[in-house]
Amino acid sequence: MSFKTSGLHHVTAIGGDPQRNADFYLRTLGLRLVKTTVNFDDPGTYHLYYGDESGKPGTLLTFFPWRDAPSGRIGTGQATTTSFSVPEHSLGWWKQHLEVSGVTTSEVTSRDEEEVLTFRDPDGLQLALVAHQQGDPRDPWDTALVPGEHAIRGLHSVTMSVSREDATAGTLTEDLGLTFSEQDSNRFRFTAGDGGPGAMVDVLVTPDAPKGLVAAGTVHHVAWRAPDEETQVGWREALVDCGVGVTSILDRQYFRSIYFREPGGTLLEIATDQPGFSIDEPLLELGRALKLPPWLEPNREQIEATLPKLDLPSENNPVRV
Ligand code: ZN
Repeated sequence: MSFKTSGLHHVTAIGGDPQRNADFYLRTLGLRLVKTTVNFDDPGTYHLYYGDESGKPGTLLTFFPWRDAPSGRIGTGQATTTSFSVPEHSLGWWKQHLEVSGVTTSEVTSRDEEEVLTFRDPDGLQLALVAHQQGDPRDPWDTALVPGEHAIRGLHSVTMSVSREDATAGTLTEDLGLTFSEQDSNRFRFTAGDGGPGAMVDVLVTPDAPKGLVAAGTVHHVAWRAPDEETQVGWREALVDCGVGVTSILDRQYFRSIYFREPGGTLLEIATDQPGFSIDEPLLELGRALKLPPWLEPNREQIEATLPKLDLPSENNPVRV
């Protein structure tokens, strides 16, 4: 297999109440809502994309949030922690900010060259903020809600929990082109491309942990980057040749996607970098209006009547002079 991803594209999770979800990720974590659309496979449910200013690949956490969703169980066969990258020396600010916002956090812990602060979102999704000594060159979404000095730079990594490591490691290295980089006890780190924040996954071997159940408060899938559609077509063919049960190429409007499940149980996706979120609305207006793909546009009236209204902070779409 000669195809190699350059890093994470997005993580998609299941949420509960959409307004509570948006308030947490926009106001408390200071991300930007870069697209308000629906789950293309279930148009009665929102699909909310949070990221940096333009929603670049590697900055995105997306949700299918719906009221009254049953709670899931975090466990093996899932991505169990989604980590964001923040500047070095920012974790003290974040710990105080989260506590003032009513979020219970861990103490700041150190591992190798990283400091880590863990907490959960309102639906129980496990999150972490990670500050790496080498820093992160990505530009933050800078608003009054979370100042740019401390703001999230994008995804740092995901942690996948598995009952055994070998088969999952095989998928990561052979099917996605990742490289094993280090082991710390039961944690195996793999990196994509040049590594660094946004290009890492930790495989945590927890044979005695319960099996995960995907519902509210859990990750649905983890998407990895493909540079373009041509690469994705070849990549898919190579996966089929290797006997991987991969979907056909699906049009997700803002990228093209293929999906397959790694042997440990986590659903993976390979998503193209293009065309991105400015395809159907200008950069300044991202996220403010409900956008539908052409094939759902005829049902707009019915879809809008089904979805609860969302109240977004004005900082999501600042007026620039
Ligand atoms: Zn996805």
